[in-house]
Amino acid sequence: PGLSRLDQGPSAFATWRRFTVPTGEIALRILVVEDEPDLLQALVRSLAEEGYAADRATDGADGLFKATAWDYDAIVLDLMLPNLDGWEFLRRLRLVKKTPVLILTARDSVADRIRGLDSGADDYLVKPFALGELTARLRALIRRSVGQATPTIEIGDIVIDTARKIVTRDGEPVILTGREYALVELLAHHQGSLVTRSVIYDSLFGEDDDTLSNVVEVHVSNIRKKLGKDFVITRRGMGYQIDG
Ligand code: CA
Repeated sequence: PGLSRLDQGPSAFATWRRFTVPTGEIALRILVVEDEPDLLQALVRSLAEEGYAADRATDGADGLFKATAWDYDAIVLDLMLPNLDGWEFLRRLRLVKKTPVLILTARDSVADRIRGLDSGADDYLVKPFALGELTARLRALIRRSVGQATPTIEIGDIVIDTARKIVTRDGEPVILTGREYALVELLAHHQGSLVTRSVIYDSLFGEDDDTLSNVVEVHVSNIRKKLGKDFVITRRGMGYQIDG
């Protein structure tokens, strides 16, 4: 009850969509499905601090909607959820998508964990867990999902250290902004393939970001200045690509 969003002035809608995401260090996009508010908040904040764009869902049905509507790089999934539990979430997700899923389980629920992995989860963490371990496991999951055995990607004389988020050219460190780095890593993960503008936009900016999509061109232009003008190829009207 009370005022509708439109009654609260022109900025209310943007505020309603916005949640905490860092301004500079955004890399890959994670969905967190967790109904416990404090844990959800801690997870989203910690992922944001690590440079991920984190979306949230507080029940299984909303989570499944988001997980199928968007292409996330990974999903953190609680098993005991309202509306749709984690196992059913996994079963339905796996009918349509291979997105890496890390499940969160209670300490004493070995059976739950096995059932989760059997339902298509890729990894699990037992509550309570250290947030640092969560982000380390997510990095490993995402690496495996894109077929990268090591956290380092080499493209010509460019080397991208995805664990430390450092890029070198001819052995010399290149200073990139958070978003430039995120874009380079995203394109590098899909080396040899077109990455569409909508995928770039979704990965870099998260669901809450109102930044105009045309700034992607600005980031690409800056990346070319730093890493070479042919490093990123424009596929006109479609997106961008890094060739091997
Ligand atoms: Ca729960």
